[in-house]
Amino acid sequence: MQTLTSAVQGGRLCHAYLIEGEDGTGKTAFARLFAAAVLCTGAGDRPCGECPACYKTQRLVHPDLHIYEDDSKNKVDTVRRIKESVYTLPNDGDYKVYLICRAEELTIEAQNALLKILEEPPEDTVFLLTCRSRTALANTVVSRCVPVGLTAVTAEECAAALCEKEDAPPETAEQLAAEFHGNIGLALDALTDASYQEERGRRQAVLDAMLSGSEYNLLKALAAYENKKMKSGLPEQLLDCLTTVMRDMLAVKAGSKCLISAFPEMAAKLAEKYTAAQAVRLIQLFDETRSYLKYNVNLPLMLWNLGGSIKGII
Ligand SMILES: [Zn+2]
Repeated sequence: MQTLTSAVQGGRLCHAYLIEGEDGTGKTAFARLFAAAVLCTGAGDRPCGECPACYKTQRLVHPDLHIYEDDSKNKVDTVRRIKESVYTLPNDGDYKVYLICRAEELTIEAQNALLKILEEPPEDTVFLLTCRSRTALANTVVSRCVPVGLTAVTAEECAAALCEKEDAPPETAEQLAAEFHGNIGLALDALTDASYQEERGRRQAVLDAMLSGSEYNLLKALAAYENKKMKSGLPEQLLDCLTTVMRDMLAVKAGSKCLISAFPEMAAKLAEKYTAAQAVRLIQLFDETRSYLKYNVNLPLMLWNLGGSIKGII
């Protein structure tokens, strides 16, 4: 952001920026802040947050800020609507800013039409495109934009933000920050979503049962997944989670500290109790079970079988 604001202040703005980052890294928030910096009429650091332009930008009512956030089915129309105003002069200030969210959802036709504008952009216009990955956009469009990559912050920074801004208990903040690898947006969603914590409890119960080796507890924990109508807690997602924990278990055994699952401490405990060969057999079992789920299997029976098969391995 520092480089960009100094570009704004020095009048060295480019015509198009591509703001790239995974969901939850704050692309739109960043783009709005950048737009405010471009449109700000205050003296000193921009955005000043106090001038009329900043006031209007924050409330998304600035007449020179054009935002296209609509969902994919309207994306065909986006560039046509941009064309209607892009060659007119700004209303208030020196610039017009066009913010196109999720640019990867533009159709090829729309991207080509946008390219024509980007090839000969009006002097007073700045385009801000956001996307998850530039690989989803036409190369010709990408090459016309200055790339701005947004990455997740460190897990510690993410945890601190959750504690400070959302009053999250430190333990929960650390757990979410680790699980979402510092992606604040996703961690925040999980923090405020009660069903997420419920699902975490169900997964913890399955892992606890695996660690204890109790077949009764295992069958009981898996039975929680019998209800197909649950929004979260799909058996497929459980299997994905268990596979990642097994992957971490193997990583621990290999002496790696790079753990990617949501239950690193369980992976470490399982690694102490079981062998690498058992972890590999469990991964195979989860793969097989996942392939059965594609067919319309009897879910309670399948979960019962899964429990028995896990017990057979451990
Ligand atoms: Zn301002």
